[in-house]
Amino acid sequence: MVIHLATPISVLVERISARRQCPKCGKIYNLLFHPPKKKGVCDLDGTGLIRRADDTVEIVRERLNSYEHLTAPVIAHYAGTDYHPIPANRPPSEVFRDIEGIVKSRI
Ligand SMILES: [Zn+2]
Repeated sequence: MVIHLATPISVLVERISARRQCPKCGKIYNLLFHPPKKKGVCDLDGTGLIRRADDTVEIVRERLNSYEHLTAPVIAHYAGTDYHPIPANRPPSEVFRDIEGIVKSRI
């Protein structure tokens, strides 16, 4: 069984470019979904958050285009088998419910 969590590139770019990291403890935040309590500062140690050099929109787009190029043959290989693309640009509970339904139908 292959489950493919699919999200539009534009959404992934937005999510990844909103990522921030604490250079001291490594904790990762997301300004859209999991922002720090105090803007720009790590909740755990008060260190100023940074944006990784490879999290810019241009570089993220390039990485995702490369990912699509590499995974397209894999998806083509599994198409027509026990392959299930799941739209993942939805609340986690909905994505989980879809995956659970597929898995439960097999046991
Ligand atoms: Zn920290």
